Amino acid sequence: MLTLAELSKALRRAKTTWGPVEVSPELRGWSYDKPPVKPPAYPGLALSDFAYGYCPTYRNIYLKYVLGERGGPSKTLQEGQVLHSVLFKALEDFCRYAYAGVPMSPGLEGVPEDLRDKAEALYKYVAARLIGEYSYALAARLARSRDAAVFYASPIATQVAVDGAPLGLGYVVADGLALGAVVEFKFGPAPNVEAALAGYAMAIEADWGVPVDYGIHVQISVNHAVEYRVTAYPLGDSARSKFLEARDEAVDVAASGRDPGAPPQCPKTCPFYAACHAGGGR
Ligand code: SF4
Repeated sequence: MLTLAELSKALRRAKTTWGPVEVSPELRGWSYDKPPVKPPAYPGLALSDFAYGYCPTYRNIYLKYVLGERGGPSKTLQEGQVLHSVLFKALEDFCRYAYAGVPMSPGLEGVPEDLRDKAEALYKYVAARLIGEYSYALAARLARSRDAAVFYASPIATQVAVDGAPLGLGYVVADGLALGAVVEFKFGPAPNVEAALAGYAMAIEADWGVPVDYGIHVQISVNHAVEYRVTAYPLGDSARSKFLEARDEAVDVAASGRDPGAPPQCPKTCPFYAACHAGGGR
């Protein structure tokens, strides 16, 4: 899943399509000591709670950070969480396979019964893909060491955590980092993915002081077969400004403690749907 060849092709395509990435110095994550990157307050928000914009009024922020409600994960959310952990396990198991010869096998303990087929299909697909690419890199002498062959097959560092405090966030965990780009895997709807990727990039810039100019969105569907689409985005001024706009609104709701109310229409998949629509939560 996401070999070196695929990643570099996606980045090359983005560079050809959009040209050089324009980032104003004041929109780099390391400019966190002055607006617009400096947040209006520091409530330690989770980036995923606002960057995808699933609640247009940010009432989810009020419920979670002001009232302390946890919400109940929707079926879509739960499926996404399970498939994410299967994917990360497969990527980790591949390293054990390559470095220690441990066979890859989908341990499905803890996976709910109704998601087992999907989880197994995803694991097996990733295992076959990575082992095939690894063997090819060695056999074709593309890679001259085991380490290099692992890199050709799977060049992604997964679940990279950085301290998002300078941006008013808590710890920010990116699904992956590869070739200087931030990577996000999605198994369900992915609204505002460009802005979210810009947020991850800016948090890394703030914590590490290195530029992150591209974001890679991997949309995965698992049914009878596994299919995925890879799109690389330049994280220029527009994506960064959209992220900061969402961040400022969310921080304002958390810091002021005001209830922003519900929008005219709410997705039934929202984890707070019951809180907002049953028992007069509006
Ligand atoms: S149910 Fe509606 S108002 Fe409540 S958090 Fe979800 S999207 Fe926002």
